[in-house]
Amino acid sequence: MLVPARTTLALALTLAGACAPATQSGSARAIRVAPPVSGRVTNHVMIISIDGLRPDAIEQFGPPTLQRLMREGSYSRDAQTVLPSTTLPSHTSMLTGVDVDVHGVTFNSDTDANLNPLEVPTVFSLAHAAGFRTAAFFGKSKLQYLHLPRTLDYVRSLDGRIAWTGSAKRTVDDVERHLGTASPNLVFIHLAETDYAGHFFGWMGRSYARAVGHVDQAVALLLDHATARFGEGQYTVIVTADHGGHGRTHGTADPADTTIPWIVWGKGVRTGSTLAPVRTTDTAATVLWLLGVEVPGAWSGRPVAEAFNGTGGVP
Ligand SMILES: [Zn+2]
Repeated sequence: MLVPARTTLALALTLAGACAPATQSGSARAIRVAPPVSGRVTNHVMIISIDGLRPDAIEQFGPPTLQRLMREGSYSRDAQTVLPSTTLPSHTSMLTGVDVDVHGVTFNSDTDANLNPLEVPTVFSLAHAAGFRTAAFFGKSKLQYLHLPRTLDYVRSLDGRIAWTGSAKRTVDDVERHLGTASPNLVFIHLAETDYAGHFFGWMGRSYARAVGHVDQAVALLLDHATARFGEGQYTVIVTADHGGHGRTHGTADPADTTIPWIVWGKGVRTGSTLAPVRTTDTAATVLWLLGVEVPGAWSGRPVAEAFNGTGGVP
C-alpha cells in the first residue's frame, strides 16, 4: 500500500534527490507507480496574483469577475503584505509563508535575485514533495527566483515589458495550453498589467482602470479553462496581490501600498464571509492546508480556515 508523503520528511527526501512522489517497488519486476494524491478540501488550487491591485480598485472600477468572486466566495479588503511592499519580497512571503526577516529578500531585481538564492522552501516545494503536481506562470521573469530545483512540474515566465498591455492575455494563453494536456494540483498565475499601468500612468487613473479591466477578463478566462480541465466546482481559487500603489510608485508603509485584496472562491469556500485580518503569508499556509499538507510550525502564515465550509474555523 502506498502512502502519499505529507510531511517535512518528504521534503527532506525530495531535497535528497527523490523528486518524484513517494513510491515503493516490491521487486525489480513489480515497479509500481504511486496513485494520484488527493487534497483535504480540494484537489486543485489556483493562486492568481494580480500585481499592484489595490482592493479599492475593485470597488471603484467594478470589474465584474472579481466582484462575482467576492460575492460568491469569502474575502478581505484589508489584507496586508510585507515591507518593503515590492514585488519580489511580497511574492516571496506569499509563497513561502514566512516574513521578510526570515527569507531575507528585501531586493527586487533580477540581478540581486541571481546573487542571493532563496534558502527557504516554497509552497511549491512542500506540495510537490507531498506528491502534488505544480505549475507556475510568472508575468515577470524575476519571479523565477521562486522556482527552486525539482519543485515545479511546469514553469513559464514572460520576458520584459514588451507589449505589457497584452501580457495578461498572453499568460492566460500559456495557462490554457498547459491545462490542455496537464492537470496540476497547484497552479500559480501572476498577472502584471496593473503594476505596469500604475508605474507608467499612476495608480487609480484611467490607464490603471483599463488594466484592471484586462486582468478581470483574464481571470474570467482562467476560470473557464480551469472548469474545462478540473470540472465545475472542482477547484479552489485564491485571488490576491503583492502590493498596492500610490502616485506612480509603491514600496512604502503607506496603507495604499501595503493593503491588498484576498479573495477565495470555489470548492469548499463559504459564501459571503468577510474575513478577519489576513496577511500575505497566510496564502501559502492556506494552500497547504487545502491540499492536506502539514503547515510548517515555523511559518508565520496560518490557514484562513474560517473561509471554508465544515471546518468550524479550526485548521
Ligand atoms: Zn509588484
